[in-house]
Amino acid sequence: MKKVVVITGAGRGIGAATAILLASQGYAVCVNYQSRAENAKQVVDTIEKNGGQAFAFAADVSIEADVLALFSAVQSKYGTVTHLVNNAGILFAQSTLANLSVERFNKVLITNTTSCFLCCREAIRVMPSGGAIVNVSSAASRLGAPGEYIDYAASKGAMDSLTRGLSLELADRNIRVNAVRPGFIDTAMHADGGETNRVARLAPQIPLKRGGTPEEVANSIAWLLSDQASYVTGTFIDIAGGK
Ligand code: NAP
Repeated sequence: MKKVVVITGAGRGIGAATAILLASQGYAVCVNYQSRAENAKQVVDTIEKNGGQAFAFAADVSIEADVLALFSAVQSKYGTVTHLVNNAGILFAQSTLANLSVERFNKVLITNTTSCFLCCREAIRVMPSGGAIVNVSSAASRLGAPGEYIDYAASKGAMDSLTRGLSLELADRNIRVNAVRPGFIDTAMHADGGETNRVARLAPQIPLKRGGTPEEVANSIAWLLSDQASYVTGTFIDIAGGK
């Protein structure tokens, strides 16, 4: 089976590391991005330089029409999607729940969770037996992110439920659905949350005493997608240094 993977939000951070790793393992990769075209181009260039196959596609995956266009482009370019990584996600400045606006809460939910639903729905319309989905959830779904971003934690909690339910719906088609739950990974996302050095500040409280790298998350995503994980579905890998 030719392996064709869609990775949402793959222009930087965990998505970019996953795109580069999966391409090196023989997947044809769709590098989805929303706004930073130059980042996505760099990921594609790196993959092509290494002899892999990739193309970049701009889509806001919280918008249904964009997701339809994304999957149609992949079908035209590489054929049937066999694997999916729902990685796109956002958070906003640290805040207590009392100070959250309904607009912000809904924006986080639609970007992190509705996008996952939409991409899963389009992927499983065509995904063959042996296909697999990995959702990039967060340790926040377990920890709750009090005083920081409960909206974000709740969006990831919903993603966890979606992961479990969809894994059971798809088990008899031999399509596996799992999630990774990273925490404290060194990426630019923390600057969006208002604290560029958040991972360094929290490192002493992490049992392994350091933040993680995007590549360490990518390794678990690649394993869950692979046939090495052929008896693993509906489950979660926590990648948070022991937290
Ligand atoms: P990141 O560097 O901010 O990357 C996230 C990417 O998502 C961005 O490149 C962005 O694309 C894309 N994106 C955002 N909204 C989108 C939309 N509506 N449609 C399409 N793409 C969209 O973050 P990261 O740290 O690598 O995080 C990746 C995933 O891991 C997220 O789901 C995050 O919640 C999760 N995670 C991260 C950590 C951590 O410590 N870093 C911990 C737990 C979970 P553009 O750049 O093109 O706008």
